[in-house]
Amino acid sequence: MCTGAMTAEMARACLQQAVTASGFPMDIQTVALWERNAKCHPLILNNIDWVNSLRGRGREERPHLFQDILDLNPPGCLRKVTTYAGKRRAVESSPCVQEVPCLCCMEDVCRVPGADFGVSGLPCEDMSRAGHQKLRHGKTNSVYMTHGKYTAAHQVPLFVVECTPELDMGMMEEVHPDYDLIQTFCDPGDTGHEACSRSRTYVIGAHKNKTEELEEPCKLQDKIQRHIRKRVQTVPSDYMIATGTEISLEAQQMARKRGIQWRPEQTDLGYLLNPREKSVVQEYEKIYRQRTGSSMVANEDMVCFLGDNPRYTLSWSLHGRLPTYRRNNGLLWIPSRQRKMTGKERLVSLGWPVTAEIASAMQVPMVPALDVQRAADLAGNSMHFLNTGVQQLIALACFGPCRNESIFC
Ligand SMILES: [Zn+2]
Repeated sequence: MCTGAMTAEMARACLQQAVTASGFPMDIQTVALWERNAKCHPLILNNIDWVNSLRGRGREERPHLFQDILDLNPPGCLRKVTTYAGKRRAVESSPCVQEVPCLCCMEDVCRVPGADFGVSGLPCEDMSRAGHQKLRHGKTNSVYMTHGKYTAAHQVPLFVVECTPELDMGMMEEVHPDYDLIQTFCDPGDTGHEACSRSRTYVIGAHKNKTEELEEPCKLQDKIQRHIRKRVQTVPSDYMIATGTEISLEAQQMARKRGIQWRPEQTDLGYLLNPREKSVVQEYEKIYRQRTGSSMVANEDMVCFLGDNPRYTLSWSLHGRLPTYRRNNGLLWIPSRQRKMTGKERLVSLGWPVTAEIASAMQVPMVPALDVQRAADLAGNSMHFLNTGVQQLIALACFGPCRNESIFC
């Protein structure tokens, strides 16, 4: 289903390359994607090509790109049903639609394929504390139900679901009755990115009749976390990698959007802030001085989120972690550099191989991110590249086909 503009498939392709190089052949082909957000479609098409280039495949190998997972329910199936129980009855008692419109192929509709392994970022707005925490009673519950319907109809042996840690596990269990569910929790710090805030939960779904556990996922995850945490931990300034050209491009875009004359010679970009943002920066400075006795301009690791009022919420990196990224377009201001964090810098903190150094360390081609808008769109929609890769590998390493599967089939 939605995988953060294909973050999950790209991360898996990177790890697949490392696993294959270790002498264990691994080749998972993406057969279908679901993405409702039209903004993500061009990103996905580029990212499909990137994955194919990594796998040594041509442009022609493209998965189906479907839009709304709810299209797997017959038209009108969910009309006039509002309660959780009513929606479950409607989804579970109707057939799983077999052909839906596809954005990738030349046909009007494509047959929805089955899969051996699934990875999905399911909606978090009804789960997270930032929303109203309606959990299973929120309007996104039908997405979970339809995910359950697809995995059951196609008997997908193994899947991974990503969400915020508050995920309603009771609902997950109810809508995936054919599966054993194992929940893990992770942070970017588990993969070395301590300075990035993005706590997530992953749920591994193992089909009760088709799949069996070979290792305990939580034990394997602990081992990986301990190994990496001991060796590498980032601080916010590690992510400030934008070149002069990139900073200029972002400043020009911001000036254009805000109707301000761009000043090419000026490195202090405070003139691009609006009056509210300027007062927010002053407020942060005042609070910082009260707490530390010095100016935050002297702290290279300081980043402030300008979308909040600091009198109510302090969204800053005083304790070594960047503020949580939001979709409300608030700026992340770096006082020591008098500029905002660029989209590319956010991508670096999310583990994306968008610089030559990171790409070479990961032994993959660089993902292009010079286009300011594209980098911002990618950062705004992506998962944490390393977390999603590691969690998939844990699922794939810990589960295998049921040894006596034949007795069930
Ligand atoms: Zn298709």
